[in-house]
Amino acid sequence: VLVPDLPTPALLVDRARLDANLDAAQARADANGVALRPHAKTHRSPALARLQRDRGARGLTVATVAEAEAFAAAGFDDLVVAREVVTGNGLGRLADLAARGVRVAFCVDTIPGANAASALFKARGLTADVLVEVDTGHGRCGVRWDDRTAPAFVAHVAHLEGLRVRGLLTHGGHSYAGPTEGEAPAAALDRAMREERDRLLDLAVRLGAAGLLDPGEAALSIGSTPTFSRFENREREGFRITEVRPGNYVFHDAQQVALGAATLGQCALTCVAAVLSRHRDADGTERLFVDAGKKALSSETGWGVGGYGVVLYSARTRVPNPHAALVALSEEHGWIEVPGGAVFGVGDPVHLVPNHACVAVATQPRLFVVDGEEVVDEWEVVGQGAGAAGDAR
Ligand code: PLP
Repeated sequence: VLVPDLPTPALLVDRARLDANLDAAQARADANGVALRPHAKTHRSPALARLQRDRGARGLTVATVAEAEAFAAAGFDDLVVAREVVTGNGLGRLADLAARGVRVAFCVDTIPGANAASALFKARGLTADVLVEVDTGHGRCGVRWDDRTAPAFVAHVAHLEGLRVRGLLTHGGHSYAGPTEGEAPAAALDRAMREERDRLLDLAVRLGAAGLLDPGEAALSIGSTPTFSRFENREREGFRITEVRPGNYVFHDAQQVALGAATLGQCALTCVAAVLSRHRDADGTERLFVDAGKKALSSETGWGVGGYGVVLYSARTRVPNPHAALVALSEEHGWIEVPGGAVFGVGDPVHLVPNHACVAVATQPRLFVVDGEEVVDEWEVVGQGAGAAGDAR
């Protein structure tokens, strides 16, 4: 099968670029003495996760209970849900996985959440590993790294039956905010990386001093693709980062390129769409409409990205089309403007690099693996939705 034979829109994974991204990330993790626990929400593909494992990845990170179930069903038995799980439904399903021998940990960051987890696992006669989520600057979930009450919270969790504190987890998601006024993009990545790493180490040292964390045993888990692109490990009073959880690095996307965390040449995922219609305005601007809209690309934008994805001139070289801009999306249409005239005709394929690869993947049932124009494999995307497949709960 060749790319022009595929249904459109379709997501293509360039196998050579993917392999290079996987190798580079594993090498960076190895050089820094950390376990790579890739975030599988990016690809939701057991086939791709096996490639990560074959290269040395230790366990997987997932975002949802449904993803944990899907990857456990595919034979992955060491999972971290990098988010709080607090409902009876979610905790019950994780307990079901644990009862089946899957090593599955999740996050806690509040007393009610931790108490709910403790009650459920205790009632089931199980012990769950939990990671205390720490906010190192992102401002989402997590106990702030400088919160004076953090040791009291960790002490509370440590005393709960049915739970065991494995360590601390943070996500340097503020790396996506881009540079501050006058800051260079590379300096912004370095700053976010240091904040994520050093703030987590700071809290670990404080907890260590309070006898609540053991440097020899505690997991210290960090990770985002932008911060990982600049990662160097550090030691503080016996504590080091033990684990990294980037996800997006397998594909990269227009957002990583804008931040300076990757080049367009490293972007392994493209969306191929077909030109449905072409019109010329009085001023000579050509407007193309392709069959990839919000439902294939999502309407995500982000720091430094113009429009809704990069229109490629050459899919093989990843050279962008300097004139074509993906300026708007409706559900099933992408609106491309080409001042001065287009090189694409009706029915032609257009290759786009999405702004956010993880969200694009989540819209699709499968990924097509390509070597140039040839489709060499087809990978199923699993773990969609909040419930397990076939699970009526
Ligand atoms: N860990 C957590 C908790 C996340 O939310 C994410 C992404 O959102 C990641 C790790 C991976 O980060 P990235 O998508 O930048 O690779």
